[in-house]
Amino acid sequence: MDKRIYLDAERTWRSRRIEVEATRWFAVVSLDRDGYVDSLNMRGEDADLPAAFTVAAERAAEAACNRVRYNGYPGSYLLSSGSRFITVRVPFTHVQLAVDALRSAELEHDYTKLDELTAQLVLPVEQWLNPGERELVRGTDFDPPPTVFLRFLREQAKHRGLRLNGQATPGSVWVRPELPFAEKLLRESRPERYPGWTDRWTSHIEPDDAPTRPQSKGRSRSNLSRGARPVRFRPSHIAGTGDCPCGTRLHGSRDAQAQHAAHHVQWALGVPTPKGLHWTNGIAVVTSQSPIAWRRLAHRMGRLPQRENGYDTNSWFHVREPEPTPDDVRAYLFQSNHRVIGYLNAHDTDRHHHWKLAEDSPASIQDRTLRPQIGLIWVAGTHRRHGIGRALVQALADDFGCDTSDVSWSTPVSAAGQHLARKLSPEGIWIS
Ligand SMILES: [Zn+2]
Repeated sequence: MDKRIYLDAERTWRSRRIEVEATRWFAVVSLDRDGYVDSLNMRGEDADLPAAFTVAAERAAEAACNRVRYNGYPGSYLLSSGSRFITVRVPFTHVQLAVDALRSAELEHDYTKLDELTAQLVLPVEQWLNPGERELVRGTDFDPPPTVFLRFLREQAKHRGLRLNGQATPGSVWVRPELPFAEKLLRESRPERYPGWTDRWTSHIEPDDAPTRPQSKGRSRSNLSRGARPVRFRPSHIAGTGDCPCGTRLHGSRDAQAQHAAHHVQWALGVPTPKGLHWTNGIAVVTSQSPIAWRRLAHRMGRLPQRENGYDTNSWFHVREPEPTPDDVRAYLFQSNHRVIGYLNAHDTDRHHHWKLAEDSPASIQDRTLRPQIGLIWVAGTHRRHGIGRALVQALADDFGCDTSDVSWSTPVSAAGQHLARKLSPEGIWIS
């Protein structure tokens, strides 16, 4: 169907012509005045289109554009302007009228056929978007498949700042266009940007005999917001907190917040036990020579106190090849309900002092007994004060073959650590 129609007797570069090109969704009909304008310019003559032509052509192009989208064309294109090319994209049924309209507009300055084209293609969008609950019936109110029509109407509603509240049925489309308060404010505060816009929706009152939309299965979007009033906002007088107990700064992007949420769950509930690990008893002892999955798990646990307390480094760093350590570095992992909720990092050392657990008590002379030393003890946020820390220290002592009062604590001992140490060893503790 692609064709070229010359409007002038001669067929040269300066001749005006109408070109028709078919695409999958519509036909592009364009009046090509490019060479003609050049030749007029060369002779010093005015090449501008009459204003009436421009107005009529733009109206037709816009009506045709909407019609093509109404028919289901999912893409978008720009409406062209200028005096060199006049383009309308029309349904295939309207190609001949479009060609005739452009020809008589260009040659005879007769725009009635352009107006006729507009009249045939224009859609009653404003009417479809009237306020109130209504059912638009396929075949009576519109022709395309309801889902296609609904998509078109949503687009048109959005363009006007409206919420459509649309729903497609096999043979119809239900609509209840509403104007969100914010859109009303926006449009009324900037009338120069929305010329001719008036609010037809806000003061609409649904009549008692308004049709009732059938409830579709699976989603009961009933009109629970009908007649609702917008929420109000009040200034809050506190700035909100800056840090989460898990150690994350709370000011951040949405992405940062999502990462925080994931981290926070682990901080609060513990790290999920990897599926491949066979956990035979409550507390696993992971050494620098354990299988990598275990050492990685210890590393993940180490990250939680690291972030919470702002340490520079992870207390577990043996995540390369297995290798022995002279001081028997190890981690005690407490598991419950498929999550690791407690972590104790330890190694053995033989330089300690005894401390009476009072601020001003002097440290004793050095003790050279080999003792297990607690580097760090950490329990997931929601599991604290349930004896898990104590169980971890007990496991460390049992594993080494000593009493809990014989273990050593690395300094400085945190307040929580001192609290636990006092319970386990009220007479004082070993520190190193
Ligand atoms: Zn948090």
